[in-house]
Amino acid sequence: MNIILLGPPGAGKGTQSAGLVERHGMKQLSTGDMLRAAVKAGTPVGLQAKAVMDRGELVSDEIVSNLIDENLAAMPADQGAIFDGYPRTAAQAGDLDRILAKNGRSLDRVIELEVNVDALVERITGRFSCANCGALYHDTANPPAKEGVCDVCHSTEFKRRPDDNEETVRTRMEEYRAKTAPILPGYEERGIVSRVDGMAEIAEVASAIDAILA
Ligand code: ADP
Ligand code: ADP
Ligand code: ZN
Repeated sequence: MNIILLGPPGAGKGTQSAGLVERHGMKQLSTGDMLRAAVKAGTPVGLQAKAVMDRGELVSDEIVSNLIDENLAAMPADQGAIFDGYPRTAAQAGDLDRILAKNGRSLDRVIELEVNVDALVERITGRFSCANCGALYHDTANPPAKEGVCDVCHSTEFKRRPDDNEETVRTRMEEYRAKTAPILPGYEERGIVSRVDGMAEIAEVASAIDAILA
């Protein structure tokens, strides 16, 4: 099974990907996570991407498609892939088809997380993650069970993304509207789009996704 989770920043793609990894042993391919790892490691890609990400703009198609290509090639053939935050442009959607074909795979489903745009700034400005294992949390909607302690690994160190501020979020939303949303009709024509109410509680969204994949 190869699926895309599609939705604007803060829609819940990362949260739902983590659930799918845990429940179904799929692999999450998040270009955002890959880029942040490259920035942290100070690789040439990271050095090039950092300023663009801090502004909330899109990194070049070539960079992100290469990351997906490398990571998909390294996966066992029988493991399902979740594309999280990729593709984000029409060019990337074309790249993905070619990369999948090269690896003997094809796209099974595009799951669109439908969210109310007004809720997204709050979701993103309240987002934080475990500095040790990356588990995702939210100040009010999804805090750790014990304040200050990660549910998953019990670390007490947390971090926030530098681009999770209100101003950058506005740019990221606009990038989504202008460049990412327009790739949906192409997938609709192929009859592979399913929609999920992303405003429901995290567990309900997870059940709705499982029902689609069943
Ligand atoms: P994305 O990967 O689409 O940018 P995330 O999964 O990182 O989104 O979620 C953004 C923030 O919203 C996180 O802080 C997360 O804990 C929270 N969140 C995710 N799904 C929901 C939901 N269904 N209801 C409320 N908050 C949510
Ligand atoms: P979110 O889902 O919250 O918007 P991501 O972690 O997916 O955040 O992406 C963070 C940033 O990384 C984006 O704002 C963009 O600069 C860059 N990025 C991630 N994925 C892509 C992509 N597929 N194409 C271009 N830029 C990307
Ligand atoms: Zn943790």
